[in-house]
Amino acid sequence: MEVLKNLSKHITRTAVVSEGLSYRYKDVLSRAQHTAEALQELQGAPSNGLRGDAVGPRFAIMAPPGPHYVAATWASWLSGGVAVPLCLTHPPGELKYVLQDANVRAVLTTDEHMSRMAPLAKEAGAKILRVSDSSEQPSREQDAIDALKPEQGALVVYTSGTTGRPKGALHTYAGLTAHINALVTSWEWRASDRILHCLPLHHVHGIINALHCAHAVGATVEFSPKFSPTAVWDVLMREDDPITVFMGVPTMYSHLLSVYDDMSLEQQKAAQGAAKRLRLTVSGSAACPLPIMQRWHALSGQWLLERYGMTETNMILSNPYHGERRAGSVGLPLPGVEVQILPEEGTESSASTGTAEHIGELQVRGPGLFKMYLNKPEATAEAFDSEGWFRTGDIASLEGDPPYWRIVGRASVDIIKSGGYKISAPQVEDAILAHPDVAECAVMGAPDEAQGERVAAVIACKNTQITLKQLREWLKDKLPEYQLPSRLEIVETIPRNAMGKVNKKELRRQYFGA
Ligand code: ATP
Ligand code: MG
Repeated sequence: MEVLKNLSKHITRTAVVSEGLSYRYKDVLSRAQHTAEALQELQGAPSNGLRGDAVGPRFAIMAPPGPHYVAATWASWLSGGVAVPLCLTHPPGELKYVLQDANVRAVLTTDEHMSRMAPLAKEAGAKILRVSDSSEQPSREQDAIDALKPEQGALVVYTSGTTGRPKGALHTYAGLTAHINALVTSWEWRASDRILHCLPLHHVHGIINALHCAHAVGATVEFSPKFSPTAVWDVLMREDDPITVFMGVPTMYSHLLSVYDDMSLEQQKAAQGAAKRLRLTVSGSAACPLPIMQRWHALSGQWLLERYGMTETNMILSNPYHGERRAGSVGLPLPGVEVQILPEEGTESSASTGTAEHIGELQVRGPGLFKMYLNKPEATAEAFDSEGWFRTGDIASLEGDPPYWRIVGRASVDIIKSGGYKISAPQVEDAILAHPDVAECAVMGAPDEAQGERVAAVIACKNTQITLKQLREWLKDKLPEYQLPSRLEIVETIPRNAMGKVNKKELRRQYFGA
């Protein structure tokens, strides 16, 4: 596993910065080793029936972004176990679901979460342990690292739950290693990097792309405990220990841009300088609307590097680090990744801009894919075909010159079937978001007797509320007639999950009765 294997190379470098304190790799490692020793003692104790389990013992992690979270992950690995990061803000019911579904042997936590987690761990038949605070150097870690087998389970990450109950995807050491290596090479991660990390630490974006890639090369991860656009700008504008890498979901960039709009001219200049200084600025987890892309480009002079991936597959497609980054596209397969599409009959008609050579459900194969969904053999079997291709459930097309992949949307909610047309909801969203009074929008299909479905929009406005008539009038020369919304719901804000994603099935049920 790259993160552990390379530790000895940069043991005195700074691994983590949190709440103004710096922790070297060796400081985090000693915490991890002491915690791993405690975990190993547990292995001998009677457990919740896991002995002989092929997956390996699961250790849940409930810790704020900082040295304890990182030490807990390394400790799980050093003791030959599987880390299961929990969401800091999940309500008890959701945490209980994960603890039970993953059948965890122990919960690793910190003082501040102990009283909340203790009863939940007990109910799930798991032990609870404090992550060690000791910086005393313990025994050598090398033997434990050498003992890890590539096919062993290393990490369980739950999907975002955008389309249903979250599913636990099991990743092996080999899978994580392949994936981390691909990203380190493609995005040119280096030891001198310093990433400002404000992503949740229970999804691959925050855990793997941002945290473990940095630690695989000896870089520094500076945590910002909660995303606050003003705090992010303050850190980015700092002259000392400059940030070189930033990764976010599209809504984060949208908030950063709103704060920028309210700055004085002088502050805006400083912000532009800070954004220009970033070596790598990545967007992902959901489609980045074109207006956000364009505004960030105007501010910083660089295009956000948009990439596409899933909990199950890790990153699949990425715009290039060098070379053309195309707004509205997710680029090409990362090293080692193969993609193909399963053409859907008739899809070519209208879902894309007309230049599509291929369009259909994206399938992926490669060494970084997950091994299985925990406790869901049927879902695992359904997800793969006989040749090992994983079905993403996303519709994609290969477009332009040179051809890059574009994500048209999720097959289940983003392709609106209206009167024989197939309409890409994200494409309509991009057009609506360019309206000066629109702050946020989600487009979906509302059931309609005559047309099958009709384009429906849920919109949060800035100051002035717009009507359906005004919206249609404004969109008239931007979209074909059949793509114009025929239903509109105005809301205060659009509800989103921890990854800034919209549950469209839920919205559709709530506003359009489907
Ligand atoms: P669940 O599987 O529980 O319904 P989820 O699919 O949102 O939730 P994730 O694995 O976190 O869970 O998200 C993967 C999905 O996010 C992809 O299938 C795709 O729909 C979307 N996605 C990620 N990156 C992009 C991108 N750059 N453009 C468009 N969609 C993206
Ligand atoms: Mg999914």
